[in-house]
Amino acid sequence: MLEDSIAELKGVGEKVAEELALLKIFTIEDLLLYFPYRYDVFEVKPLIELIHDDKVTIEGKVIHDPTLQFYGKRKSRLTFSVEVEGVAVKAVMFNRAFAKKQIHTGDIITLTGKWDAHRLQITVSNYKLGPASNQDKIQPSYSIKGNLTNIKLKKIMEQALKEYGPKISEFIPESFLTGYKLPSRREAVQIMHFPPNRMALKHARRRFTYEEFLLFQLKMQLLRKKKREATKGNAQVYDVEQLESFVASFPFTLTNAQRSALDEILKDLVSPYRMNRLLQGDVGSGKTAVAAISLYASVTAGKQGALMVPTEILAEQHYESLTELFKGRARIALLTGSIKGKKRKEILTQLANHEVDILVGTHALIQDDVSFAELGYVIVDEQHRFGVEQRRTLRDKGLHPDVLFMTATPIPRTLAITAFGDMDVSVIDEMPKGRKEIETYWAKENMLERVLKMIEKHVESGEQAYIICPLIEESDKLDIQDAVDLYHQLTDFFPSSINVGLMHGRLKANEKDAVMKQFAGNEVQVLVSTTVVEVGVNVPNATIMVIYDAERFGLSQLHQLRGRVGRGDKQSYCILIADPKGEVGKERMRIMTETTNGFELSEEDLKLRGPGDFFGKKQSGVPEFKVADMVHDYRALETARQDAAEIIEKNLLEEKEDFLPLKLHLEKDQISEATLD
Ligand code: ADP
Ligand code: MG
Repeated sequence: MLEDSIAELKGVGEKVAEELALLKIFTIEDLLLYFPYRYDVFEVKPLIELIHDDKVTIEGKVIHDPTLQFYGKRKSRLTFSVEVEGVAVKAVMFNRAFAKKQIHTGDIITLTGKWDAHRLQITVSNYKLGPASNQDKIQPSYSIKGNLTNIKLKKIMEQALKEYGPKISEFIPESFLTGYKLPSRREAVQIMHFPPNRMALKHARRRFTYEEFLLFQLKMQLLRKKKREATKGNAQVYDVEQLESFVASFPFTLTNAQRSALDEILKDLVSPYRMNRLLQGDVGSGKTAVAAISLYASVTAGKQGALMVPTEILAEQHYESLTELFKGRARIALLTGSIKGKKRKEILTQLANHEVDILVGTHALIQDDVSFAELGYVIVDEQHRFGVEQRRTLRDKGLHPDVLFMTATPIPRTLAITAFGDMDVSVIDEMPKGRKEIETYWAKENMLERVLKMIEKHVESGEQAYIICPLIEESDKLDIQDAVDLYHQLTDFFPSSINVGLMHGRLKANEKDAVMKQFAGNEVQVLVSTTVVEVGVNVPNATIMVIYDAERFGLSQLHQLRGRVGRGDKQSYCILIADPKGEVGKERMRIMTETTNGFELSEEDLKLRGPGDFFGKKQSGVPEFKVADMVHDYRALETARQDAAEIIEKNLLEEKEDFLPLKLHLEKDQISEATLD
């Protein structure tokens, strides 16, 4: 049995079993699924193609018997020459005195090691008598601990495969395997440990990638289904006709992406499940319109809705635009920290009496004394600014409201469907027609004066600009000093008709608000700011975004900052000031100038940074896979996600015989996970 202890295996005594235990290998199955972490492909290449300092493989004929020198304590150096392509190459081998007896003049030998192109010399790490054969081209390496060696582990693996290989059984239904041309589990395990060639290895890895993703998706989706069935939400039966007439009153028609996101949200509203959905869409993609329509749906179902945003300015902006949009179809109120006393009491009373349908506000709207008559639906804008705690408080208020989180920080689909396992995700990946693309330029620091001149020109014709300050090491103090310095420099540089404003993290909330209001009202034309410039702030007259030290920001953050402009109908510009030293920095600048699509950018960012970094160190929930790679195998992940959805929707695990092995495997996995906890 594959569950047999590793000690049952011939050649594995107590000592070796202990070594294997260090690698968490206890059973035969653990062993067989302990895959190499790396494969070195040794291919004999012509000398001319060998790169200095690379690990290379060459094949040649020994010209003279090796000479052996001893030095230090028990250290030795073996040297000999081989003829490769008619050229003499010197081979050096350290501390392998025994090899002297095995290597003789005239032998054909294959050597692998570090190449010194200047001296035509190889420092041998591996050698084999005879010509390079296919068998040795791919060398797996296992990660090992203690006294175990790769050679020993390979021997054990060989033995295990011989004795137990035939017992490895399949659990992915045949139809999937043939459909995707994947090898069987048994074959694939064999190949992972002893790959005959690259192609076979590729397919074996494809198989395990798919297997891992499918199991992961099935588990997550089953969990989500169970959760859904357990949470009672509210079924909000909205009025389709009223909704359609509302949509028809808009000055534009919805994009297809807005439509489908809206459909997904409405489905959740009607269903008795509690909605827990993330709506992603680039800045300006029209999330607010979708939010407004779905809020109205909830209102026609006789419920109250709430829209929560991170800042007072945003709350005011949303309140105004919603009031305009609804034109009396719903009663809308605003609640922020600066609404106090009698006014506040009045709103709270109206809310409790259901005289308000939609409440817009900052987190002031989740304070203890705020109670709704019938809260059915909550939308949280820019979820990144809200803590888990606040979200929970909000959710626990009222009657298990449906919750929608909106974000303009595009998260790559691959991460969204894994990291937000318990959230449904809707995506608006299409911009309304006729938008002018923001033109993005990358400027070196010595071009600063020209950049400032350009700002001056645009400001004189009535436009406004943001200037994001240089980024100084983590220290807040320096950061501010720098902002202040830059502010003074620019005040000197620009003519007195141009007002320069200053914004940084040390300002109090009401001071920040005041600066933003001046900028929004065009009393200030050039706003110097640290990165605190608020997400989601809407000043359509601002057309220029200058970012200092742009190479120090991640792509997503640059994209966020760029999203502050391009909100009106005038052409907007983003200027990245950067002198990146490294390749990654240069690559970032190039990508920024080439695309304005947030999803593309975030995929690129993910590739440059890797998933761990993308969410910051602490972020859990990004699962670890043995073989699969979320970034590079995202297509397989999407395929597995769809397959899992179909399996669950059609109840195949329960109803179809050929899905029984898969069902049993999932159950077994769940039991072993439960015992781990
Ligand atoms: P987001 O909240 O995603 O940043 P908004 O909903 O604020 O985007 O929309 C940005 C602008 O685009 C608004 O002025 C809005 O009226 C407009 N808009 C939204 N949807 C469409 C559409 N389908 N066609 C044309 N303009 C649209
Ligand atoms: Mg918005």
